[in-house]
Amino acid sequence: MKAEIIAVGSELLTPYRLDTNSLYLTDELNKLGIRLVHKAVVGDLRDEMRSSFRHAMNRSELIISCGGLGPTDDDRTRETVAELLGRELHRNEEILRSIQERFRKFARTMPEINVRQAMVPEGAVILPNPRGTAPGLWIEAEGHIIILLPGPPAEMKAIFEADVRSRLARMGDSERLFSRDLRVTGLPESEVEQRVRPLYELYPDTETTILATPTGTQLHPRIWSRNAAEAEKILDEMVSRMQLALGEHLYSTQGETLEDVVARALTENRATIAVAESCTGGMLAERLTNVPGSSSYFLGGVVCYSNELKSSLVGVPADIIDSKGAVSSETALALAEGIRKRTGATLGIGITGIAGPGGGTPEKPVGLVHIGISDERSTRERATRFPGDRERIRFQATQQALDTVRRYFFFSAHGRT
Ligand code: AMP
Ligand code: MG
Repeated sequence: MKAEIIAVGSELLTPYRLDTNSLYLTDELNKLGIRLVHKAVVGDLRDEMRSSFRHAMNRSELIISCGGLGPTDDDRTRETVAELLGRELHRNEEILRSIQERFRKFARTMPEINVRQAMVPEGAVILPNPRGTAPGLWIEAEGHIIILLPGPPAEMKAIFEADVRSRLARMGDSERLFSRDLRVTGLPESEVEQRVRPLYELYPDTETTILATPTGTQLHPRIWSRNAAEAEKILDEMVSRMQLALGEHLYSTQGETLEDVVARALTENRATIAVAESCTGGMLAERLTNVPGSSSYFLGGVVCYSNELKSSLVGVPADIIDSKGAVSSETALALAEGIRKRTGATLGIGITGIAGPGGGTPEKPVGLVHIGISDERSTRERATRFPGDRERIRFQATQQALDTVRRYFFFSAHGRT
C-alpha cells in the first residue's frame, strides 16, 4: 500500500515551526509495512489544500493529514476534504456532547466556534481524541483511505495509537522495511557514493540512502520484504561488500557513534586514555565521557588554553611554544606525549588549533588543527584544515581526534601502523 502525508498549517511554512508529525507518522507507517511515497506541507489555504489532496489521491491509496481540525477560521481541512469528496458535513451530537463535557471538566463553557469540531463528513468513522477536542476522521472514498488527524503532536499520536495503528495493521500486507545503518568517516560523501554505487546494481531490490552529517557519512541500505530471513541475508551480503569497498573508513555497521566504537576499542585492548585540549576546550573529554562506563578507560584531561598551562600542567617545553608557536606540530606532539606521561595513560591525545573567527594568518589559517597521539613507542601528529565556523571546526577536531584513536586500534589489529 502506498501512502502519503499532508501536513496542514501555514505556521509550518514559516521558519519558526517544523513539521515533526510526519516523522512520527513515517516511522509508524514503515513499521506497519506501509511505504511512504510522498509528503507535503501546505498552508491553510483552501485551493492549495484541495490541490494537495487531489494530487495525493492520484498517487496513493492511503493519505494521512494532520492539522487544520481546530475550531478557528483558519482550520479548514475537514471542510476542504468533504467538499473535494462531495460529502456533506453533518453535526454529530455525540462528539458535540463530548466536547462540551471536556470544557465542563475544566470548568468552562464551550465557545460556539467549537461546534465546527463536531462536524463530520458523511460516511466518516470517528476516531476519538483522548487528549483534546477535535476527533480524528477516517474516510474511505473511491478506493482511498483518507485519515484526518489534528495538528498538536500529543493529540495526533494519541489518536494514532488508540485507533489508527490497529486499523491499518489489519489491512496492511505483511511487507516490512529492513535496514542497516553504516557510518563512515574520513571520506567525502561523493567518494563514499562512488565506492558503493556498483553494489546498487547487484542488489536491485534494495534502495540505499546516503546522508552527510556533521559526524560523517551515513549509508542506509533498505529493503522491503515479506521474508525477514531473506531480507536479512541480502542486507548482510550487501553490507559485507560495502565493508570491503569502504575499508578502514567504515567505523560501524550498526549505527554506533564514534565515541561508542572508540570506547569498545579501548575496553577490548585494556587501554586507557588522557587528553590535553587547547582549541576544543574540553569537548573531546566531554564526548569520551558521554559513554556510560567511560571511567574504565578515560583517566582525565587538561584544558590548557594558555601557553603557561600548556607548559606547567602538560609539560610542553616553553621554548617549543616560543619558537614554533602554540599551534604547531611540535606543540601537538608535546601535548600528546606530555599528558600520556603525566597521567600514565596508554594513549595521550593533544589538540591545538585555530578555531576562529579571528587569529588566522596565511601560514596558520583559521580551521588549522594539529592532533597528536602518543603511545609508549612513538608519538605522531597530523595537521588538518577544517572548513566552517568556529563551532564546526571545534567539533570536527574532536571527531578527527576520536577517529585517530579508532584508527590506531584498527591498524594495530590489522598489523599496520
Ligand atoms: P491545528 O490542528 O492545525 O490547529 O494545529 C495546532 C498546533 O499543532 C499548531 O499550532 C502546531 O503547533 C502544531 N502542529 C500542527 N501541525 C504540526 C506538524 N505537522 N508537526 C508538528 N506540530 C504541528
Ligand atoms: Mg493549524
